[in-house]
Amino acid sequence: HQKPSSHDIEFRNVSFRYTEKGDQILRNVSFSVKDGQTVAVVGATGSGKTTLINLMMRFYDIKDGEILVQGRNIKDYSLNCLRRCFGLVLQDNALFSGSIYENVSLGNPDITMEQVVEAAKAVEADRFIERLPGGYNFVLHERGASLSMGQRQLLCFMRALVYNPGVLVLDEATSNVDSETEALVTGAIDKLLKNRTSIVIAHRLATIQHADKILVMHKGEIREEGTHQQL
Ligand code: ATP
Repeated sequence: HQKPSSHDIEFRNVSFRYTEKGDQILRNVSFSVKDGQTVAVVGATGSGKTTLINLMMRFYDIKDGEILVQGRNIKDYSLNCLRRCFGLVLQDNALFSGSIYENVSLGNPDITMEQVVEAAKAVEADRFIERLPGGYNFVLHERGASLSMGQRQLLCFMRALVYNPGVLVLDEATSNVDSETEALVTGAIDKLLKNRTSIVIAHRLATIQHADKILVMHKGEIREEGTHQQL
């Protein structure tokens, strides 16, 4: 199992239902993302946006159609390789009870404190972290309850930067972020998406405007596809 060297992604006629007798959730979905480009997925609640991510990450198996990375079916990559290559950043950010360093490094001893500090600087989270008692060793309780939503998001972006995935799969948070952190979050998302193949369930206008392609989902189908100017 080799690592893909480019990250062109293609959905080819993907149809999907979660259970055999359940509703059809995706209908004949086809689109492609070129290496280094960003696709923003928008659409009403229940239109199938998260399902696209679930299938890319192989949380569920596809029976109808296929998803290709660099021309190869994702089933032909090991799960390990696939999940390392696809950095997933979800809305309900996956923080745990542990220090900031541990939350960003995920306990991987190969990731040094220096790398974590560098990631913090890249997303300008260093100032708020340095003000916390213990700084990078500050221990989060209850999934980061003592931090603001925006600060928690920044930690998740730092984790993504440190792991530097070939493909970023981002579910942009809808929750309100305090205005102080808002600009930092926007800047961090820009940095993460830049020159990286990305699929984003997008809620921010800036992300949608900067995307190379926008997919408008409607009841499991791609209703429209184009750039922000075209749509
Ligand atoms: P939202 O914007 O609310 O997150 P979405 O566009 O991401 O919505 P999906 O989460 O992909 O939509 O859901 C599409 C449909 O699939 C919905 O009708 C949902 O109820 C159904 N669905 C999602 N996950 C499952 C599951 N694990 N089992 C069965 N049905 C599911």
